[in-house]
Amino acid sequence: MKMICMGITHSVDMDKYVMGSYTHKQLSPGRILVTAPHGGWAILDDAEFKLLRLGEVEKDSNLYSLLFNEGIILSENNIPLATNQCRNKLAQLSSATTLHILTPTLRCNQKCVYCYAASKPEGDKTYDMTEDTAKAVVDFIFQSPSNKLTIEFQGGEPLLNFDIVKFVVNYANKKAKETKKEINFRIVTNLTIMDDEKLSWLVKNKIPLNSSFDGPKIVHDTNRFYDNGMGTYDDVTAWIKKLRDNGIPVAFMPTITSHSLPYWKEIIDEYLKFGQNRFWARRMNVGGFAVDTWKKIGYTSEEYLDFWKKGLDYIIELNKDGKEVVEGTIDIFLKNIIFSKKYQGFVCLASPCGCAWSQVAYNYKGDIYTCDEARSFDVFKLGNVKETTYKDLYSSWDVLDIVDMTTGESFDCAECVYHPFCGPCIVDEYGEHGNIIKKPNSFNCRVKKGIFEHIFNNLMEDKDKWDIVKGWVIPKNKNDLIKC
Ligand code: SF4
Ligand code: SF4
Repeated sequence: MKMICMGITHSVDMDKYVMGSYTHKQLSPGRILVTAPHGGWAILDDAEFKLLRLGEVEKDSNLYSLLFNEGIILSENNIPLATNQCRNKLAQLSSATTLHILTPTLRCNQKCVYCYAASKPEGDKTYDMTEDTAKAVVDFIFQSPSNKLTIEFQGGEPLLNFDIVKFVVNYANKKAKETKKEINFRIVTNLTIMDDEKLSWLVKNKIPLNSSFDGPKIVHDTNRFYDNGMGTYDDVTAWIKKLRDNGIPVAFMPTITSHSLPYWKEIIDEYLKFGQNRFWARRMNVGGFAVDTWKKIGYTSEEYLDFWKKGLDYIIELNKDGKEVVEGTIDIFLKNIIFSKKYQGFVCLASPCGCAWSQVAYNYKGDIYTCDEARSFDVFKLGNVKETTYKDLYSSWDVLDIVDMTTGESFDCAECVYHPFCGPCIVDEYGEHGNIIKKPNSFNCRVKKGIFEHIFNNLMEDKDKWDIVKGWVIPKNKNDLIKC
């Protein structure tokens, strides 16, 4: 028998195959999702699934062809392809740390309802990074063997220690020249201490910004305000316009609180008003919040998923009316499903995730943490840039154990049908339960399962919606990429 996979013709002896490892889940009557660890997947009907379970796949040549292409059954003809796909899926492990999150200060001039970054009062400069520490951080970053490095400034509000931001950029540019590495920068700022001096420096250095913008004034000002309680909407929107007029790219995203939930449509409309056509709503996690705070601003996984689905449906309707707007969660999850046999670069939606390996974070004292979200918990502290070298740290059991944990193989993720597209977050687990061991159905996991279920059960079953969302991730003339 001859089969075509990725344009290569294989001769296949249907009798000689072995079953690869797979997990499965009944999506709905007569639809069973089967996934393999390297990313192969198929949706089977009851009869097909029975043949798979009984090891009698050769009785149905179409089924054989499907499972062969997806690497769910293995023969000498597809093992080289499946092996290569495994390698591509774990590509993050063959590169060194590229994303470095640096905290020039923990001070902030705002008191946002959901701040988990343990920000300190604006006037307390004891929480600023010194030049000596900044130099040691940059020296450490350049020990990474990666030829491509990104430094992202986070806070507190990083621009409150603008001198250190400038020092890091100048020093890192000098080191990049000496070492012939590529260096990129990004600043995550609340935009409220911008001024013309900072603007002209940003223009000169071509540094893009990321910012938080929670939607219309009624939502934004409830979530994000100054120390004195005054909302920041007017200042933020004025700066978004000014930065765009000056050619500085600003990407912004809303953080969703319980106050935001009724305003899914207004938030999306506000984003379109300011010219951003990719809408990605960041959900909070239980971890890091006191119980009382979570009661005030948090939500259940069902409430968050309801918000997300309403927003998604609205964006799909806008697409039907010819507006080009993409929903960011679907964009990320769907890339992981459609191009499942290759690492897609989403550090927080992979197993292993990017924690400690692809990204690392430095606080104002030069302490090294596994990732930005981990800075709130000392258990994720790996060392200090003045006391350890990159090589010592990355050959230590600490880092290797953490990477191993984030594969999810020790948790219920190993049995989860969505595992090839997903992975656990040990920082969220620690925040929620005080333990990095993942509990079945933690908040983060329930939300992710809800998103996968909506994709497989609702979007894939509705041709109009599926064509639109698929169009966000598959270039129009490359539909064949979806095959094997
Ligand atoms: S531990 Fe969680 S927050 Fe940190 S990189 Fe992994 S998935 Fe992301
Ligand atoms: S986090 Fe939840 S949804 Fe994701 S792989 Fe693990 S068990 Fe599955």
